[in-house]
Amino acid sequence: MTSLDSRPYTYEAPASADLFARAQRVTPGGVNSPVRAFGAVGGTPRFMAQGQGAYLTDADGRRYVDLVASWGPLILGHAHPAVVEAVTAAARRGLTFGTPTEGEVELAEEILRRMPPVEEVRLVNSGTEAVLSAVRLARGVTGRRLVVKFAGCYHGHVDALLASAGSGVATLGLPDTPGVTTGAAADTVVLPYNDAAAVEAVFAERGSEIAAVITEAAVGNMGVVPPLDGFNQALRRTTAAHGALLIVDEVMTGFRVSRSGWYGLDPVDADLMTFGKVMGGGLPAAAFGGRADLMEHLAPVGPVYQAGTLSGNPVAVAAGLATLRHCTDEVYARCDEVAVTLRGAASAALFAAGVPHRVQQAGSMFSVFFVPDERQVRNYDDARSQDAARYTAFFHAMLARGVYLPPSAFESWFVSAALDDQAVERVLDALPAAARAAAAVEPATAPPAEEPADARSGMST
Ligand SMILES: *Cc1c(COP(=O)(O)O)cnc(C)c1O
Repeated sequence: MTSLDSRPYTYEAPASADLFARAQRVTPGGVNSPVRAFGAVGGTPRFMAQGQGAYLTDADGRRYVDLVASWGPLILGHAHPAVVEAVTAAARRGLTFGTPTEGEVELAEEILRRMPPVEEVRLVNSGTEAVLSAVRLARGVTGRRLVVKFAGCYHGHVDALLASAGSGVATLGLPDTPGVTTGAAADTVVLPYNDAAAVEAVFAERGSEIAAVITEAAVGNMGVVPPLDGFNQALRRTTAAHGALLIVDEVMTGFRVSRSGWYGLDPVDADLMTFGKVMGGGLPAAAFGGRADLMEHLAPVGPVYQAGTLSGNPVAVAAGLATLRHCTDEVYARCDEVAVTLRGAASAALFAAGVPHRVQQAGSMFSVFFVPDERQVRNYDDARSQDAARYTAFFHAMLARGVYLPPSAFESWFVSAALDDQAVERVLDALPAAARAAAAVEPATAPPAEEPADARSGMST
């Protein structure tokens, strides 16, 4: 096994390699979402054939403990029996009707019970759609044009919000956002995360033009960067003082880091919130919601248009509802417990191997930053100061030992309640060798290439 430390990408995955070659002939990059292609870490992306509980099985029959959980949704693990049962039963009753159904009401009621700032909610099909609808609503209600976002936050591939976006945009180090009109870019003001003074300064100058500030409740899309104490509260104050709306994006944190998401840990009342991932239970369902007086600007009650052929799809709603109903206090307690164990063990292994790093968390979401100076990562510039080559070595050493981590240093690790002691043990066993693999990488001599000047000044004109 030790030879893997020095040549981490040479192990074979022939069935995945064949599928990847075929996929690249028919799909750009061979994938339907960029980070899946392993571009940042190299090697062959694993084509998965099966998921059961805490484990994934790839096309070559190799098993992995899954710490990605489909990028967040699978808080109960793969193919949870109650969720599969609910989905199967719903499918037997009919796949879609294009009419309202009882399940949609139940899912909306469940979201309202868990999220006190949400008085009304509308269901959509993806987090991207939730965010773009919430932004349109904010503009429709305020009659204003500008949206403030933070560098390193990812809100889906919404045109106006791709500037300095995290997640895949960060992973691929994309310099700008071709395909986004200068008009859309000019409607976006990008500020450094966790910098309340920068927000106040922009509002002092252009407050009357700003429709909304959008922020991840706690950031998971540049790696995990929680808000500093009082940051979300400061956003609440500043937006309210200027008649702008606060949109808190809980697509990733919602129903994951507590039964009420990040709101449950740091209750700041947003005007509008967005949800996805866990609330769809592994099928495409998402939502946006908030104050009733705002939501009632939506058609058919009000003039702001928003619609969807498959919105509130009965099968997706059944998956989401079954998942939320099984997200009990015990589920959150298990996720927290596993996260504490894994965070501690990852840090201890890296410390023992002499690898500078910092582990950051937002509830049970966490990630490891290979930052040379080990200082707190508070924003996107800090996140980009990490030595991504070390993550690459670490990632492949874990993969070779049967642990599936996010194939990017700019993503959160996601636990599930299906991680039993045996699965956790397997991760713990893999960590020391992975830490040594990271240690074997020459420290980066120069900081990673900087993006052209956009992160601080924003793309706004
Ligand atoms: C994943 C994510 C989105 C986008 O959701 P999709 O379903 O991928 O469109 C939006 N916001 C945040 C915070 C996310 O993590």
